[in-house]
Amino acid sequence: MSDRFAGVNKFPRAKLLSGPTPIEKLDRLSGELGIDLWIKRDDLTGLGFGGNKVRQLEFYFGAALEKSADTVLITGAVQSNYARTAATAAAKLGLGAVIQMENRVHGMDETYNTSGNVLLSRLLGAEFMRYPEGEDEAGADLALRQRAEELGKEGRTPYVIPLGLNNPPLGALGYMKAAEEILQQDDGFDSMVVASGSGQTHFGLLAGLRALGCKTPVHGICVRRDAATQIRRLTTVGEYLNTLLQCDPIVAVSDILTWDGALEPGYGHVGPPAREAIMMMARKEGLFLDPVYTGKSFAGVPGLVREGRIKPGERVLFVHTGGQPALFAYQSELKL
Ligand SMILES: *Cc1c(COP(=O)(O)O)cnc(C)c1O
Repeated sequence: MSDRFAGVNKFPRAKLLSGPTPIEKLDRLSGELGIDLWIKRDDLTGLGFGGNKVRQLEFYFGAALEKSADTVLITGAVQSNYARTAATAAAKLGLGAVIQMENRVHGMDETYNTSGNVLLSRLLGAEFMRYPEGEDEAGADLALRQRAEELGKEGRTPYVIPLGLNNPPLGALGYMKAAEEILQQDDGFDSMVVASGSGQTHFGLLAGLRALGCKTPVHGICVRRDAATQIRRLTTVGEYLNTLLQCDPIVAVSDILTWDGALEPGYGHVGPPAREAIMMMARKEGLFLDPVYTGKSFAGVPGLVREGRIKPGERVLFVHTGGQPALFAYQSELKL
């Protein structure tokens, strides 16, 4: 194993994953799309309703426990899977959770504000606060830190899981470990396709593969920002990751691939390509995608085939990052 990868194992990690997630063949969609299509079932990471955040949070909770924290604070959209998963991990580990809900997605109905992940986080006993903006990561983090300071004065030991770019990307380490897991299961893929939001999943996967000497292209499908903006974001995530691991750059900027053909009408809204992808996965494979992330990221597979960036017959791994609880909050937007 290369030295760059060994660095990952030095970070404290709370055990939240139930074990390796399966890689399965998608037979009917392979036929439909003319490729050899497989799925990494990271919707089955084991904690709560699963998803990619379980892998990321192993490292954040590892840090929180090392600091003897008794409360974690996290920010996100109202239907944040990250917040729900953090509240789930907190419950399991005996910590409190504070969730800050940002006003990030507009024009949504009552179900959006009460069902899906919000319902689950209430069940878990999380404390809620609101943040009036949706595009102000630094401000959202600052509001969390202010709440943490108040909690500290009350005698609690808070740990903030930050959202903004200018923080050590501990979550990316979870996807470096996922890259190792995938290569141990099957190292014969021609390309991989994954959602690219904060970028910790996409960049972590890419960095993990490269640190282990694997050159498979990783297509990051934009769920929040356009393709060029997302490459700049990932470049910054990479710089912070190098600092965190105290190593030379693992990934060349030219190696970062993004596609934003399913981004419209923007974060947290379901456009026609995502809606079609959700239907196709349900009706051809009996698997559920989510309205915010994997609907868009799976739309990238036919999109990249159409544009010739995935070639006919190519052996492709789609990484399912979870998020299905949000389906129940998006009933009206899905127009079924
Ligand atoms: C958060 C999330 C993503 C995006 O992951 P990032 O690491 O933020 O890029 C993708 N899919 C689901 C279901 C998520 O909850």
